[in-house]
Formats: sequence, C-alpha cells, structure tokens
Amino acid sequence: MIAPSSPALTALFMGTGSSVGVPMIGCSCPVCQSPDLRNRRTRSSILVSSGGKNILVDTAPDLRFQALREGLSRIDAVIYTHAHADHVLGLDELRTFNFIMQEEIPIYAPPRVLERIRTMFSYAFSDVNREGVTRPKLVPRELPGPMEIHGVFVTPFLVEHGPVMNTALRIGDLVYLTDCNAVPPEGKRVMKGASTMIVGAVRYEPHESHFGLSQAVAEITEVGPRQGYITHLSHRMDHATLEKELPPGISPAYDGLRIVV
Ligand SMILES: [Zn+2]
Ligand SMILES: [Zn+2]
Ligand SMILES: [Zn+2]
Repeated sequence: MIAPSSPALTALFMGTGSSVGVPMIGCSCPVCQSPDLRNRRTRSSILVSSGGKNILVDTAPDLRFQALREGLSRIDAVIYTHAHADHVLGLDELRTFNFIMQEEIPIYAPPRVLERIRTMFSYAFSDVNREGVTRPKLVPRELPGPMEIHGVFVTPFLVEHGPVMNTALRIGDLVYLTDCNAVPPEGKRVMKGASTMIVGAVRYEPHESHFGLSQAVAEITEVGPRQGYITHLSHRMDHATLEKELPPGISPAYDGLRIVV
C-alpha cells in the first residue's frame, strides 16, 4: 500500500559514512587525509521534513555534532531501521531535544528492532530511574507495516543485511535503503515508482552484508527514479572520483546535502 499522492518532502543527509565514519581513527589513506570536505562523513542518518515536521531516520553516534552543524533544534519523530550501533548509539542525544521542545519524542521501529533498542538502552525505558540520570523521554511505537507519521506515508520493508534483516523505508516517494546486500521481491514491489532513492554502498566490491557500488547502482537503475544517491560510504570511496564514475542521475551523497523529493 503506497499513498497515491505524497506531500512534498525534503531530505537532509545528517551523515553518509559507514559504521566507523570517515576519516577513520588512525588511518592515513588519501580519502581519510583528503581536504575535500565531502569526504568527511559522519555515521549515516537522514532528516526528512514535511509540513514543518522533522522525522529523523536513525540516531547515529554523531547526532549531537550533526544537529549542531545543521542548527537542528526540533525532532518530531524518529524511525529506526535496525539496531546496529552506527544507527542507534546517538539515542541519548534526544534528551536535548526533549528539553528544548518540552515534549516527548515518539520513536518508531519494527517490533523486533524496538525490542533490541529497549534492551540496549534499558536505563531509558525502565519504569524506575535507578541510575539517577536525566533520561531521554521517548514514546516507543511499533512500525509493523505501512502507517502515516506526521502526515507522511511510511512503508517499511525487509531487506537482507548479512546474517540479519534490516528495514528499508519508503517515505512518500523517497526510498531509504542502507545496510543491505539483497532486496527480496516484496521490497522490489514497494520501491516501484519512487522518485528518489538513497542506497548504501560501503565500497566498490560486494561485501557480505552491504552492496558494492555496482550493486547499489543496479538497484537504483532497476527502479529508475528521477534521482539516486549513494550513502553509507567508507574511506575506500573518494567523493570526486565517485562523482565522475557514477551514471547520470546518480550522485554520491555527502554530509549536509539537502534534496527535494
Ligand atoms: Zn550501518
Ligand atoms: Zn582511510
Ligand atoms: Zn547495519
């Protein structure tokens, strides 16, 4: 089920890096040492905005830095794709948004992902505040299938991510597909007709739990959106080189890039 007419969306790349970010700690490779700011990648996340509401997809460990960089002071909802560290470890930073907004923040995730997050951040979700710390005020909400979040139609679909399943998202006419090495037929159906696709590729060669670059490009080409972006990039990928290599209509994403869907 995909909404027949989707409201105008913008997407802001909060982060476009692989799990360790770029530059990588202790690395002196040309990309890690590059003066090109587009090669400085925090961990992957996007902010989708529509009708004055901001929906954050994943809370990267770099969320504090990303929010400061973008002057972000409002998050109306968070959607989690999966519970890998590079996608959830910034959860505690939501405290600051609670404080500024004086509101609780709903967090949406498929039931199994929500369960993992509750375990990883038990201090934030237990009934008793045993640690005596200021905790983020979050309202966990299951995202078992298509639903409307702040007027935006969101369809989650399962994709293969090595030994685990990850959740990709269709948000209006936008597809956000990171951390994936294969899309099952149901996902192919959901992606059909998308106008914008953001697909992850960590390196040129295929990886056991991620697309290589040509696989990500093939996935975009098969759907044929108006614009495609590659994200979740490691230090093996130089921005300027990628820009030259990618086919027309597909670009490497970079931190801070804003797009209209
Ligand atoms: Zn990841
Ligand atoms: Zn490096
Ligand atoms: Zn992952």
